[in-house]
Amino acid sequence: PFDVLVIGGGPAGVSSAIYAARKGLRTGIIAERFGGQILDTLGIENFISVPYTEGPKLAENFKEHVKRYDIDVMERQRAKSIRRNELLEVELEKGAVVKSKTVIIATGARWRNVNVPGEKEFKNKGVAYCPHCDGPLFAGKDVAVIGGGNSGIEAAIDLAGIVRHVTVLEFLPQLKADKVLQERLYRLPNVTVLTNVQTKEFTGKEKLDGITYIERDTNQEKHIEVQGVFVQIGLVPNTEWLEGTIERNAMGEIIVNEKNETSMPGVFAAGDCTNSPYKQIVIAMGSGATAALSAFDYLIRN
Ligand code: FAD
Repeated sequence: PFDVLVIGGGPAGVSSAIYAARKGLRTGIIAERFGGQILDTLGIENFISVPYTEGPKLAENFKEHVKRYDIDVMERQRAKSIRRNELLEVELEKGAVVKSKTVIIATGARWRNVNVPGEKEFKNKGVAYCPHCDGPLFAGKDVAVIGGGNSGIEAAIDLAGIVRHVTVLEFLPQLKADKVLQERLYRLPNVTVLTNVQTKEFTGKEKLDGITYIERDTNQEKHIEVQGVFVQIGLVPNTEWLEGTIERNAMGEIIVNEKNETSMPGVFAAGDCTNSPYKQIVIAMGSGATAALSAFDYLIRN
């Protein structure tokens, strides 16, 4: 059996595996897609000490770093369930059961898509999901934000300070964001809010050049020109497979304490799959390190 079995090969999982291996622990990683969300990221400008890198390049660096240690990497494998017998047992979708004394869950999250024509085609060519990451790429341009919840309105306020103009599109007749955020938003001079509208298509040729939407009360189709659109309709944690075993909040995020312990003894969690309030690479790496050190602590006490 492993001492530490990490589920997930993104920034959180890789960081926890390296920390665990450096403690001399027998460490394994099970990852569906080694690298995680960064594989879908082009420019990364906030990975501190590296002023600019690209997702696929950073994923290569992860691989190189992991190779320096005796870490057993099992790629293209999906965990299906976890249970505790004498040891912790993780069942894989392909049928095998992997045993370990401790487990670190780092299965990350995925952005909810609007699923309209153009979304896939213009991803990274105007269609973005992370304002902290990609906002500065649209400095001086016109952008739209899809979604009038807290994350959408926070994104719009954030972007309004960087871009020329922001249009918010919300499907419901009113915004769902907290009142303070809405007040803040309505005080900004370069923001337009469209409610009761349905996004129909992201348009463009090589790159995104606009959005077609339908006014739901009049059924009229309209088009606005934008160079960027931020989709902000939710981040979904990859935790469905933990149903009934590990405690999660209403959003499906794994609840962890400051030591990254979960509700199951010996099981830790890190990164975007947890209730950590902010989801970023450096934050995921930090929590991965914390989870590994906590697992080490657990092992020397049990
Ligand atoms: P993830 O990166 O999501 O990794 C999860 C891992 O778990 C993957 O290997 C996945 O395959 C695996 N997995 C999932 N389910 C299972 C399962 N059941 N069994 C086995 N394996 C499983 N952050 C920044 O700091 N700067 C940026 O510039 C930036 N840009 C971004 C741009 C885009 C388009 C996106 C989508 C995100 C961006 N982020 C950025 C956010 C950043 O990528 C995430 O915060 C970070 O990747 C989270 O790391 P993680 O390890 O928690 O999860």
